[in-house]
Amino acid sequence: MTDVVQASATLAIAQHNFDRAAEQLELDPSTTAVLRQIKRELIVHFPVEMDDGSFHVYTGFRVQHNLARGPAKGGLRYHPAMTLADARALAMFMTWKAAVVGLPFGGAKGGVIVDPKALSITERERLTRRLTTELSLLLGPDRDIPAPDIGTGPQEMAWIMDTLSMHAGHSVPASVTGKPISIGGFEGRHSATGRGITTVAVQALRDSGIDPASATAAVQGFGQVGSTTAHLLAAAGVRVVAVSDSRGGVHSDAGLDLDALSALKEEGGSFADYVGADALTNDELLSLPIDLLVPCALEAQITAGNAAQINARVIAEGANAAVDPQGDAILADRGVLIVPDILANAGGVVVSYFEWVQDLQAFFWAPGESNARLREVMVRSYDAVRARAQSESVSMREAAYHIAVAKVAEATQVRGIYP
Ligand code: NAD
Repeated sequence: MTDVVQASATLAIAQHNFDRAAEQLELDPSTTAVLRQIKRELIVHFPVEMDDGSFHVYTGFRVQHNLARGPAKGGLRYHPAMTLADARALAMFMTWKAAVVGLPFGGAKGGVIVDPKALSITERERLTRRLTTELSLLLGPDRDIPAPDIGTGPQEMAWIMDTLSMHAGHSVPASVTGKPISIGGFEGRHSATGRGITTVAVQALRDSGIDPASATAAVQGFGQVGSTTAHLLAAAGVRVVAVSDSRGGVHSDAGLDLDALSALKEEGGSFADYVGADALTNDELLSLPIDLLVPCALEAQITAGNAAQINARVIAEGANAAVDPQGDAILADRGVLIVPDILANAGGVVVSYFEWVQDLQAFFWAPGESNARLREVMVRSYDAVRARAQSESVSMREAAYHIAVAKVAEATQVRGIYP
């Protein structure tokens, strides 16, 4: 049987951040014990018929961290290195993320240990439908609402929605978010995380006394989150001087032609084919002398090993746990302002909430309404975190955790979830 519980650096970061918040908030031991623990997790091993007629048994799981404030919400990741421990960490982040921006959700995450690129579309469909049936005792619009994550997208969400609808005997569009628009998906969901990051990053630049119109930025990772963020930062007047993906990046002090870079990627090309900029490694990108650094790739990119080399004045954490606790401490000493992941990348779950509400009510929003509402939520949440950081003389990460953990603790206590 596949070993799904492995050590996870991301889980260590999630627990460190929670433990510090619990201590600083002087949470009582019972509440601390409840909030630190995963509420529920389901591991499933299920067969999938491959195109050649053979069967392969896959392992998947769904983790629900805390449901005190509402149904569980979180992505479903298809990745060969996915572990239950990572899902626990990411479910915890989802709980705090929903709380810090004021959404009525608990945190969840799930995944399958699989390389989706190695599957045909029919194999992916059979895997997704079988997984949905296996997890269906946990899923539903008022219980647990999956969304896309790494390795999954609108098509997987459509199969999940259809499978759950077949079980129910009628369409249940609110059972997933990030669906295709034709079945109740939401205009703007794709760009929502990048849009939210851009909103708070621009605000953080201003708060650091930097005019966005004369600021420079580098973005690590050029996937859904990184590419949207780079384009929106440029639209806000910021000069994006470097971007990268897993194969390396490009740098030009004059600013990059992002449309050309996106077109290159869409055609299956690499940044190395881009003329008019210098090649650079991911390590070099992280240490550029710039105003804003936006890591949008992987966890633990800024650690004790490289934090002293970071030359940005503001960091907006697009990827979850991109800065680890040791990196955090070094950057705090150096006066770098970090907008933490649970705030910075919450735009995706905010717009998922809009999609869920739209489908529950069967009342469709007007075009453009979503972006304006998202902005309102992000600005309000940023201001609350910033004000708390200033009044308590703590970092924005600590302040965001104080707000989030206190809200979940209050919900847990008022419901009398433990005696
Ligand atoms: P994605 O798979 O679309 O893009 C990831 C990008 O990172 C790709 O360009 C990839 O080439 C690049 N990358 C991988 N390894 C790298 C490395 N070592 N150095 C530099 N770049 C590297 O994923 P995404 O949806 O853009 O998500 C990016 C991060 O943001 C993930 O950590 C994800 O968990 C987090 N996140 C995503 C969302 C969302 O709505 N998609 C919401 C919150 C958080």
